[in-house]
Amino acid sequence: MELKNKIETIIKNTVANSDTETRYCEPIIGFASTTDPIFIEIKQIVGLHHLNPKEIFPEAKTVVAFFLPFDKELVKQNLKSGVVKESIQASVDTSHLIGEINEKIKTELAKDGITAIVPKAIFDYKNKGFNVSWSHKSAAYAAGIGTFGVNQMLITKAGCSGRIGSLLISAEIPPTPRPKEEFCRHKRGEKCLVCVDRCQSGALSSNGFDKEKCFMQLQEDIKAYPELNQHGCGKCTTGPCTLDPAELDEDSVKSLTTNVI
Ligand code: SF4
Ligand code: SF4
Repeated sequence: MELKNKIETIIKNTVANSDTETRYCEPIIGFASTTDPIFIEIKQIVGLHHLNPKEIFPEAKTVVAFFLPFDKELVKQNLKSGVVKESIQASVDTSHLIGEINEKIKTELAKDGITAIVPKAIFDYKNKGFNVSWSHKSAAYAAGIGTFGVNQMLITKAGCSGRIGSLLISAEIPPTPRPKEEFCRHKRGEKCLVCVDRCQSGALSSNGFDKEKCFMQLQEDIKAYPELNQHGCGKCTTGPCTLDPAELDEDSVKSLTTNVI
């Protein structure tokens, strides 16, 4: 099987057969060349602490990125005010699922003599503040999966509510073209900013994002379900960009756009 198909099949089958409480829509998968100048641009924007793929794994030829979109019922649950347990559970489940996908890709590619590495994007606020050496979100942008919204999330054809994983592999796969269109309504000049309205911490505005305020809100939310020990919130991902437009029935459109300001 062609390498691209092999990786896509592993990701899609693992998600389809997962026994997590959280349900998902079909994953979005993309590929970027590790020599793409976009990685130099990302370093310039994010900061010198952010590493290029080849600084992490010199033999890397391709960045593989995937987005696991949450089922629309979960998105609707998170429209409720306050901390939503299902949303925190989704975070726990999806971390495990991404780990499972990564291990399967590593094992299967090793059979063909291909090495796959998962860059460590460990968040260590106490010692490093908000600096992480790899961003799965930026990798997914480079791999053509979506465009950034005002909510700081990557908006894909399947929306922005979900989780992203990425790996570096030592074989070449043709890159996925980045979308030419803008997926964020505000950024393409339409009325929206629902995400700003829904952010209770005041972290989001049309002009930027206050990481500190967001982090404090997430820390506060952990206390609601300490047994899960996971960040929740994500209220900024419950606007009209949250789901694949094809998934939006009349009721969904109404609930997701109620607060258009
Ligand atoms: S809610 Fe609206 S303004 Fe905010 S990211 Fe989504 S489309 Fe953009
Ligand atoms: S995760 Fe919560 S606090 Fe952070 S920007 Fe989104 S809505 Fe605001």
